[in-house]
Amino acid sequence: MIHKKRQAQATPESLHQIFTIPEAPDSTLGRIEAEISQNLNGFLANHIVATEKPLAEIEKDFADSKIPEQPQYVSDHTHHLLDKLISQSVHTSAPSFIGHMTSALPYFQLPLSKLMTGLNQNLVKIETSKAFTPLERQVLGMMHRMVYQQNDGFYQQWMHSAEHSLGAFCSGGTVANITALWVARNTLLKPEGEFTGVAKQGLVKALKHYGYDDIAILVSERGHYSLKKAADILGIGRDNVIAVKTDTNNRINLSALKAECKRLKDNNIKLMAIVGIAGTTETGSIDPLTEMAEIAKQYQCHFHVDAAWGGATLLSNKYRSLLAGIELADSVTIDAHKQMYVPMGAGLVVFKNPESVAAIEHHAEYILRKGSKDLGSHTLEGSRPGMAMMVYASMHIISRPGYEMLINQSIDKAKYFADLIDCEADFELVSKPELCLLTYRYVPQVVQQYLQTANSQQRSEINDLLDQLTRFIQKRQRESGKSFVSRTRIEVEKYDGSKVSVFRVVLANPLTTNEILDEILKEQKLLAAESLQFLPQVLSKVLKS
Ligand SMILES: *Cc1c(COP(=O)(O)O)cnc(C)c1O
Repeated sequence: MIHKKRQAQATPESLHQIFTIPEAPDSTLGRIEAEISQNLNGFLANHIVATEKPLAEIEKDFADSKIPEQPQYVSDHTHHLLDKLISQSVHTSAPSFIGHMTSALPYFQLPLSKLMTGLNQNLVKIETSKAFTPLERQVLGMMHRMVYQQNDGFYQQWMHSAEHSLGAFCSGGTVANITALWVARNTLLKPEGEFTGVAKQGLVKALKHYGYDDIAILVSERGHYSLKKAADILGIGRDNVIAVKTDTNNRINLSALKAECKRLKDNNIKLMAIVGIAGTTETGSIDPLTEMAEIAKQYQCHFHVDAAWGGATLLSNKYRSLLAGIELADSVTIDAHKQMYVPMGAGLVVFKNPESVAAIEHHAEYILRKGSKDLGSHTLEGSRPGMAMMVYASMHIISRPGYEMLINQSIDKAKYFADLIDCEADFELVSKPELCLLTYRYVPQVVQQYLQTANSQQRSEINDLLDQLTRFIQKRQRESGKSFVSRTRIEVEKYDGSKVSVFRVVLANPLTTNEILDEILKEQKLLAAESLQFLPQVLSKVLKS
C-alpha cells in the first residue's frame, strides 16, 4: 500500500476543535510559543535568513490568488509560515539595524499582546470594552499631562467626562494627524447662522459662507507625508499643504513662515493650521514651537505639533526642554509605537482643550448614544483593539524615570556616533543629532575640500555622483544582511538647498552598542572602497578641476 500523508479535513468537529483545543505543547506552534517566550531575539535571529532574496523571488511564494479548498493542519501551516514568511522578514529588532523608527520591544509586550488579542475588546463602545474604556481615557490623560502639565483637578474634571475627551487613541501618527486637522477644519468652518457647518454641508458651501477663496496648512519642508494625506481626504487638497523653507538646522525658517502667512492673507486664503514638527522623520529636528505658537495666535489658526516620533522625549527631565512650547499647541500627535517601545498600532493625539473633540463628534442610534462614554463617538476609526493596554503597561512597568534613561541613552549614543563620523576624514555629518537621529554620507576628504570651493554647477555634478555612491553603499549593506541604515534625500543649505542622498540612522534600540556603531562605519568604508564604478569618476572630476 502507498503511504498516504495525513490530511486535514474541514469538518464540524475539526472546526470546533480550532475554536476550543489548542495544539499540544510539543506541536510546532507549541514549540514556537515556548521559544519566543524564552528568547525572542534568539528565535528571530535563528529563523530570519540574513542574506536577502530578491523580492521577485519572494513574490513567487505568494502568487496564488485562490482561497484554498484543502485545509491544513496548524503545525503544517506553521512550518509553511516559518519557511516562506518568517525567514524572509526584516529583523527590525536587531541591534545593528539602526535605520528604523521602531526598535526592539521589551519581552513583556509579547505575552501581554497575546492577552489583548484573546480578550479582543472593541474600544468603539463601552458595551464591548468595559474597563478598557476607562483605561484608555487614563492613558490619554497621562499623555495629555505629559504635554500640558495641568493639575490634578483638571484631570479629575475631564479625564472621564462623557461629553469630553482629552484626545483620541488610534492606530498611528497618520490617523492622529488626520484627526487633529479634522478638528481644526471643523472648528474653523463651524456652524454659523443658516450655515450648519462643514461637517454637514461640505467644503464648497463652507468656503462660500465664510467668504474665503481657499484654506491652507503651513508646515516646514520636513513635514511628514501623512499631512498631505490628511489634506487630501479632508477636501483641502494636497497642494494646500504648503512647505516652508528650513534653516541650516532643518528647523522651519520663521521669516519665511511669516511671509507665507501674510501672502495667504493677502490672497484671501484662510490659514487653517500651522504644523510644528517636534522630531522630523528625516533629521530628528525640532521646530521653534514657542515662536510658531505666537504666529498661529496672531493669525487665529490652529497650532498642531507633530511629535509622532519625538514626543516621548517629554519623559526625559533632562531633554524635555528641547520641546519647549509644545504646551502651547492646540493638538499634539504622539506615536507610542516609536520611542515608547510599544508594538505597532499605538498612536494618539491629545487636545489642549477637552471640548475640541466636539467638532468631530458623531452619534448613532445603536451605539455612541449622546451622553455615553463611548470612545467611538470622536475617533475616525470604528472597531479598535485594546492597544492602550500596552501603553498603560509600559508606563507602569518602565515608569517615567525608566523611560528617561532610555531616551537619554539614545541621545547620548547618537552624539557618540556623530563624534565618530566627525573624526573620520572621509565621512560628512549632514545633520547633527538633536534627538537620537542623524544623517551623514561618505565623501572622500579631497572631495569635501573641493566641494567647499567649487561653483554651484560643479557641486551639483559631484553631488549627483555622491548620491549614486550613497545608494550603492546603503543597498549593498542592506543586502549583506549584517546591518541596516536607511537612506533619504534632504535639502542641504550649503549645497544651494538642493537635495542630496544621505544615510539616516535612528539610535533608539537599547541593545545597540558603541562597538556595533564602530563596525557599521567600518563596513561602510569597505563598501566604499569596493565601489569602483563611482569613486574614480568622483575623484577624476575633482582632480581635473
Ligand atoms: C512616523 C511619523 C508619522 C506617521 O506615523 P505612523 O504611525 O507611521 O502613521 C507622522 N509624523 C511623524 C513626524 C512621524 O515620524
